[in-house]
Amino acid sequence: MTNKYIYFIANWKMFGDLTTLNSLDKVIKFSKNIKKNKIKLIYCPPSTLISSLSKRLKKTKIEVGAQNCHQSFDNGPYTGQLNSRMLKSVGTKYVIIGHSENRQLGDNDKLINLKIKSAIRAGLKVIFCIGETLKQKKNKKTYKVLADQIRNGLKSINNKSNIIIAYEPVWSIGSGLIPKSDELTKSIAHIKSQLGSKSSKILYGGSVNSNNIDKLKIIAGIDGFLIGGASQNSNKFIDIIKKTIN
Ligand code: PEP
Repeated sequence: MTNKYIYFIANWKMFGDLTTLNSLDKVIKFSKNIKKNKIKLIYCPPSTLISSLSKRLKKTKIEVGAQNCHQSFDNGPYTGQLNSRMLKSVGTKYVIIGHSENRQLGDNDKLINLKIKSAIRAGLKVIFCIGETLKQKKNKKTYKVLADQIRNGLKSINNKSNIIIAYEPVWSIGSGLIPKSDELTKSIAHIKSQLGSKSSKILYGGSVNSNNIDKLKIIAGIDGFLIGGASQNSNKFIDIIKKTIN
C-alpha cells in the first residue's frame, strides 16, 4: 500500500433498490470510527440509486460513483443513456469506465477513451478498469493486453491525476479465483511502468473477499480494491476493510 489512502470501492453492479440502502447504516457507523485520511470509501450503486444514496451520505466520508457513462458530454438523442454531467449533477464524484462486463457489451478502447475524456471534463474522477481474459492469460498476452488497454484508453490524456486504474483480470471477476501473488505483483509493476507516473493509484479487483484479503493487501503497489459481490453485504465489506487496515 503506497499512497495516502487505501481505496475500497463497492461496485454493486445491477443489484439493489431503495430498501437495500438501509443496509449501509452499518458501514456509515463503521466509517465514522476510522481515522481521517486512512481510507477512501466509495459506493457505485446502480444509477437508479445514485441520487438517494448521495443524499443519505451527505454528512459522511463515503463518496458516490457511477458504473458507466455515455461518451457524449452534451445531451443528445441517446435513449437510455446518461452522460457524465448528469451523473455529476446528482452527487456522483467517480465513474467506473471500461469494466469488462461493459467491454463485453461493446465498450471498446476507443469508446472508453471518449468516455474517460468526457468524465474528466465534467469533473469526475475515473476508475479505469483493465484486465486480461483467461484466453489471453493462457496465451501469455497479459502484459500486451494491459499495455494496449492503457495506451488506447488514455490516448491524448496528459493529466492522469483524476484517473485511478483498477486491474481486474476478467477471469477473476465473480469466479472466486485470484491471481498468484507473484503474478499479481508483476502485473501491477507492469501497469505502473506503462502509466509512466509513479503517483498513479492502482487498485486490484476480482473476487476480493475476507478470506483472500490478507494475501492481496501485501502486494506491492496496490492502493486499494474494487469489490463487486462482497460489497453488497455490509458485514462482509466491513470485514474486508478491517482486515486490510488492521
Ligand atoms: C467487479 O465487478 O468489479 C468485481 C471485482 O466483482 P467481484 O468482486 O464480484 O469479482
